[in-house]
Order: sequence, then C-alpha cells, then structure tokens
Amino acid sequence: MFVYADNAATMPLSPAALSAMRPFLEENYGNASSIYSVARDARRALEDARRTIAGALGAAPEEIYFTAGGTEADNWALVGACEAKRNQGGQGGQRDRGGRGAQDGRHMIVSAIEHHAVLHTAQHLQKQGFELTVLPVDKLGRVAASQVQEALRPDTVLVSCMTANNEVGTIQPIEEIGRLCHASGVWFHTDAVQAIGHIPLDLSSLPVDMLSLSGHKFGGPKGIGALFLRRGVRLPPLLHGGGHERGLRSGTENVAGAVGMAAALRESTLGMAEDIRRTSAMRDRLIAALSAIPYAFLTGDPENRLPGNASFVFACVEGESLVLNLDMAGVCASSGSACSSGSLDPSHVLLALGLPHEVAHGSLRLTISGDTTPEQVDYLISQVIAAVARGRAMSPLWDAAAQKPIQ
Ligand SMILES: *Cc1c(COP(=O)(O)O)cnc(C)c1O
Repeated sequence: MFVYADNAATMPLSPAALSAMRPFLEENYGNASSIYSVARDARRALEDARRTIAGALGAAPEEIYFTAGGTEADNWALVGACEAKRNQGGQGGQRDRGGRGAQDGRHMIVSAIEHHAVLHTAQHLQKQGFELTVLPVDKLGRVAASQVQEALRPDTVLVSCMTANNEVGTIQPIEEIGRLCHASGVWFHTDAVQAIGHIPLDLSSLPVDMLSLSGHKFGGPKGIGALFLRRGVRLPPLLHGGGHERGLRSGTENVAGAVGMAAALRESTLGMAEDIRRTSAMRDRLIAALSAIPYAFLTGDPENRLPGNASFVFACVEGESLVLNLDMAGVCASSGSACSSGSLDPSHVLLALGLPHEVAHGSLRLTISGDTTPEQVDYLISQVIAAVARGRAMSPLWDAAAQKPIQ
C-alpha cells in the first residue's frame, strides 16, 4: 500500500487545478501585460483568479498580491513593514489609530514557533538594526495574547504570529492577538499557509493587516502564493522591475499558477466543512491508536489543532530512522519540518514546546487529507507501531525486556 501522509509539506495538485491551468500552459501563453487578444485572455484569467481568491478569504481583489509562494509573502510582509515604518514615525497605515504620535518604528515581535520564512527574516532584520522579541509558547504550542500585550512597545512596527503551526498543528488565537495589535496601532501579520483551504478564515472580520498563503499547501501548484495587504497598509515593493502587481511585485505574472491556485482554493472552500469532519475523525483515530504506544506523546494542542495533523514524539527512537523505515513500507511522513531535515538539530518548534533535545529527536509528523482513506489510516497505524518497535529494538537507550526507556 502507498500512503501519502505529508500533506503539510505539500499536497498533490488537485485535478481541478490542473485542468484549469492547462490552457495557460498550452495555447494561451500570452504575457498578461501585453495588449493583443491572447494576452488579454491571460490578463482576464489572472484577474478572475484574484477575485476568486479574494472572495474565498473575505477580502477585496485589490488587497491580493500574487507572489512566488509563502516564503516570499512572509519575507515581503516583514521586510516591507520594517522599511515602511523605519523613518516614518506615525505616518501612514494603522499606526495612527493608536494615536501615539510620531516615533520611528524599530521593534518587531514574532512567536518562537514561526516557520523559518518568518523567523529567519526577522533575524535578518535584527542584524540590520531592528529589535526583535521572540515570544515563547506554552507546552501545547500556544502563544498567549497576554504575552503579546506585554511585549508591545511604542516603537513596535509589527507582530507576526502564524495562524496554525506546520509541525504540531496548533491553531493560534489570532483574532485576540490582532485585536491587541490594533488597539495599539501596530500592524499584525499572520502566516496562514497551513490554515488557508483547511480551516475557515474570514478577513472581512478578522483584525489582520497582512496574511501569507501558498498554493501548494491546499492542492494548487508550487511556486505561487499571495500576500493579502489590507487597504491602507502600504508596503514598499520587495522586487523592483516592470511594475507588475500594481507596482509592488514586479515579474511577469504566473498566470497558470494563479489560475490553478484559485481553482484549488475554490474547491477546498466549497468542500471545507465536509473535509474537516472527515479528516479530523480519521486524525482522531490515528492519534488514539498511536497514543497507545508506550512512551508516545502527542505534540501540539489536542483540542485546537489542524484537522489533518497527528504529530508525536516517541522516546528512544530517531525520527529520521522512523521516516526511512516508513518509506520502505510505502508511507511518506516527516520528522520535524521538511526544511530542517538533513540538519542534526531538532526542530525549533519542538524545543520551544519545552521538549528536551533527546525527546525532540524522536518526532514524527503525519499529516493526512480528505483524500486519505480509512484503510490507509489502518495501514499507517500498523506501520508506525512496527517502525517504532523496530527502532527501539535497536536503541541502546531502550530496555526491550522492561519495555521502557533506560534512565
Ligand atoms: C510551507 C510553508 C511556508 C512556505 O511556503 P512556500 O510556498 O513553500 O514557500 C511558509 N509558512 C508555513 C507555515 C508553511 O507551512
């Protein structure tokens, strides 16, 4: 049997997205900025895609800027906000709402469990002279709104907190955090790459100024994403050139990518309620069965978690060896995030949850989707149990006779 259980790393391209894209990869190859008819068709499709995405998010089409993915959207939000506020004091944007008068912005707040696209960008800005507060999380991976409140300063430019974590699936209280930011006139960015297309989000009511999304995390193609910039939030361009995307993001438009992403988002939005019900029921069964393994611990919030996420740490096994073992059984899973595999350091997310290094090394993330079948879940359960047992049988730290970790 083959089971793809790494949907948080990427999802297969949905057939609806592929067929929507096809014409723009084949006959309709026009550059959307040219003026003859083939190009006008491409332009129309691009703007239709923008409308579809905006509609699914509760945003206006002119608030959606296409990017080359989630990483670019995150980079743009952080770098752009810092640049916009560096020497502007109280001018522009929502900073005025706090009525704090002019003061140069030089401080930024992010959570400790952000994706590296946010965390490393924040650290880069710190090297440029910005001050950075990295907020801790509790053992379930939750950011406390009260800690955001305490970290806010008169010169805070931006708070960035992800909507849902890619490794442990914890969903954050972004509405509460956004409200606090707005009460102080501070911009709020959320990396919603893992949330969009999977859980409901409505930007018409959420106090969010900037939001990042990525096509391939909900059945669209790779290499396309978007940054939502609420009306009134003005960022300088990240990329300079021909002035595409209303002068803010130059580069010939990826029409097929945008069309595919829009088709995938439309599909996942329509099927979302049913998908959540189906996927979370399978996830709960997976969690219950794997929790019965001795010295297995669920990571992340057991209540407020993404519908498809079942992430664990198992004492006395290496996550990497579990992944390789499962691969031989036809199961695709991950240990930590895809980006950090290949490095020997355990994931920054698991360490931020307070797990000791040696425990964090035994992490396994299974992320299923609405296309996963109950038979595949049965297979996953049996294969993970077998892989953990095999790993422990070879571990010098595991006392097979007593079936427990050797202290
Ligand atoms: C995948 C991911 C990204 C990066 O998106 P890309 O489109 O792959 O660049 C950013 N943030 C989170 C939370 C992700 O899961």
